[in-house]
Amino acid sequence: MNLPRTLGELRGSDFSEERLRRRRVKDEMRENLICKLRRREALFPGIVGYDDTVVPQIVNAVLSRHNFILLGLRGQAKSRILRALTSLLDRALPYLEGCEIHDNPYASICGRCRELLEERGDQMPIAYLSPEHRYVEKLATPDVTIADLIGDIDPIKAARGGHQLSNELTVHYGLLPRANRGIFAINELPDLAGKIQVGLFNIMQEGDVQIKGYPIRLALDVALVFTANPEDYTARGKIITPLKDRIGSEIRTHYPATVDEGMAITAQEAWSQRDGQKLVVVPKFLREVVERSPSPPATTKRSTSAPASASACPSLAWRTSSPMPSGVPSATRRKPSCRAWATSTPPCRRLPASSSWNTRARCAAPISWPANSSAPPSPRPSIATSKA
Ligand SMILES: [Zn+2]
Repeated sequence: MNLPRTLGELRGSDFSEERLRRRRVKDEMRENLICKLRRREALFPGIVGYDDTVVPQIVNAVLSRHNFILLGLRGQAKSRILRALTSLLDRALPYLEGCEIHDNPYASICGRCRELLEERGDQMPIAYLSPEHRYVEKLATPDVTIADLIGDIDPIKAARGGHQLSNELTVHYGLLPRANRGIFAINELPDLAGKIQVGLFNIMQEGDVQIKGYPIRLALDVALVFTANPEDYTARGKIITPLKDRIGSEIRTHYPATVDEGMAITAQEAWSQRDGQKLVVVPKFLREVVERSPSPPATTKRSTSAPASASACPSLAWRTSSPMPSGVPSATRRKPSCRAWATSTPPCRRLPASSSWNTRARCAAPISWPANSSAPPSPRPSIATSKA
């Protein structure tokens, strides 16, 4: 495909000013999503068990041009979903070549590009971004600073270019401006220090950022997406309320709701190498254990405080509603049934007798199975099951 290489050529191409100037990244994702829905394409290949729960909510969030957050426990494909969002981006996006923040050729926001555009006009060179280059991901850790995220002054840049420190050209951009015209994902948002979360207010409300002492406001065009694990809220941090208010959609993920989905995930993720070929192995004991394990009663009443998605996996309902909810059959109360372990984590041999239903406490001890046993010792008492 021959893509235009200068601004002049770009004007006469499909990437016309009329089409590109006002098309923001969320509009682009929305348009491409609508195309995919019309063609009945799979939206997130490789994501199993979310077709009727999580995916429709993501579709709604994208159609509504929302920033959104995925809330769920570990191993629920949160990061994978965010990475799959790049499939909603155009295959090539033109930008002003050399621009660190991928300026729109028709609406540049950085000082460097404005100067160059005045100089070169329609001869300004154009480069293209692929969807992968438009996805910036940051794992939130407590040591992340505003400089990492938004930007800072770069004295070396100033010295090299002979600029005054107050000059806009001495800015060293952080990750957020570098994600301009793309998707910016923050994993484990609660781990971000409160004052750094404050730094995200502007971009989410007014759509711009301010960098250190510079009198500039960069009107960025970014789709912000986050993940968080509600279990970690109290242990490590929290999402400050004003930021939570600015996140358009909150989407809860869950563990697989049926054994078949769980096994499909295991078959997809488990593999071993033999003769240089990838070989999928579903351990024989997995099916045996899963078939032996009692399924939870079909009409288990959730406590009203449990999240909506908890109904998908009984184990989640147990973990999120401590102390134990009443009105649950005693067989289930004795033994929190967790079918999800078979697909995501090794089984825990013993459950502590305490009433604290913390997964981390339950799963902290390493698993050691007897060497001569091909199947793991049954982690659960054998209770008559009424699996339909
Ligand atoms: Zn620029």
